[in-house]
Amino acid sequence: MEPFTTGLISLDDALATMLGQITPLTDDETLSITDAAGRITAEEVISPIDVPSFANSAMDGYAVRLADIQNEKPLYVAGKAFAGAPFSGEWPAGSCIRIMTGAPVPPGADAVVMQEQTEQDGEAIRITAPVAAGQNIRLPGEDIRRGARVLRAGTRLGAAELPLLASLGVAEVNVIRRLRVAVFSTGDELQPVGQPLGAGQIYDTNRFAVSLMLHKLGCEVIDLGIIRDDPDALRAAFQQADSQADVTLSSGGVSVGEADYTKQMLESLGEVTFWKLAIKPGKPFAFGRLKNSWFCGLPGNPVSAALTFYQLVQPLLAKLTGQQSAVLPPRQRVKLTGSLKKSPGRLDFQRGILSRNAEGEMEVRSTGPQGSHVFSSFSQANCFIVLERERGNVNAGEWVEVEPFNALLEG
Ligand code: AMP
Ligand code: MG
Repeated sequence: MEPFTTGLISLDDALATMLGQITPLTDDETLSITDAAGRITAEEVISPIDVPSFANSAMDGYAVRLADIQNEKPLYVAGKAFAGAPFSGEWPAGSCIRIMTGAPVPPGADAVVMQEQTEQDGEAIRITAPVAAGQNIRLPGEDIRRGARVLRAGTRLGAAELPLLASLGVAEVNVIRRLRVAVFSTGDELQPVGQPLGAGQIYDTNRFAVSLMLHKLGCEVIDLGIIRDDPDALRAAFQQADSQADVTLSSGGVSVGEADYTKQMLESLGEVTFWKLAIKPGKPFAFGRLKNSWFCGLPGNPVSAALTFYQLVQPLLAKLTGQQSAVLPPRQRVKLTGSLKKSPGRLDFQRGILSRNAEGEMEVRSTGPQGSHVFSSFSQANCFIVLERERGNVNAGEWVEVEPFNALLEG
């Protein structure tokens, strides 16, 4: 291990410590399902109905009674059942009912024979295949029983969950309130987008990136702008953020330079839980507690800021809302094409392109230069290549772990 990486905390330890300290919020609100996308359920959701709620046909065909088909005589068609328009007449012996998919199965029917297994015989039909009791009939409650739990508390509501609620007639859902997250960038060199750049100035990327990701995660963003590298201005920003937010996020000034005040501020206004991670990019990351809010000091380099937000802040926010499902996709082992530079000592998150080769196997290659200022690497990549702490250079054909991007970085 490089000597200067001793004393750095591993990502796993950092996450475990951070998540171990946080108790999820319990404040909830009731929302229409049309406004609940991306929110987290505050309690379980119980189905108010059986699904399906009545026996219905799985096929276009004919509803039959087994007693009527024993003698193999043609069955005349005594009526029709359509979706939304049940059959409601007399059903004489020796007849069948024309039925469409989704239509209520007439009382007394034993099976539905699909159209393709019948032949027309004048006004009547003949059945051309064996019939089993219950075939092609969807029974009430077969999919979901009334009273069954359909979603657990802590479920993130997305395109799989909300339509399910709609199908049950559940119009409102109880969710955890939005998190309030205060964001500011620090640095005398920073200019907001839209202003001309003076000598030595750069645009503030981090506040933009972090706000965007926070919005995507359904948080309320309190944007405190750009704060100069001045202890008084920083103290005021820390205090203002802390008085309004559940989580305070800063970027920059978290390293060991002469204008780096973040850790000092955290120490004087709250407490530092850990500082400096054995990851690359993203070593200068501080986590702690202010009076009212959790605090994360993101590194200044935009790639490092985005990476630490993604790997650390994202799970923190999920824990605060009580989200149960994993926020990051599982890692997988695939073969590397091309080679990678790496020195042992830190867990490395290189940006990679995961694809399927001509043989149908997954493989990954680097996006190219991996400097922590090369933000374009994110837009070319669709995954992280996660290289173990002790590992050195990686040769073509070696196995590496990849972690596909989730929706926060994709699209
Ligand atoms: P610092 O940790 O404050 O020394 O910042 C490390 C590097 O990241 C420096 O090159 C800064 O100019 C740059 N940097 C800091 N904050 C931002 C930001 N919000 N947007 C873009 N670059 C930044
Ligand atoms: Mg700075």
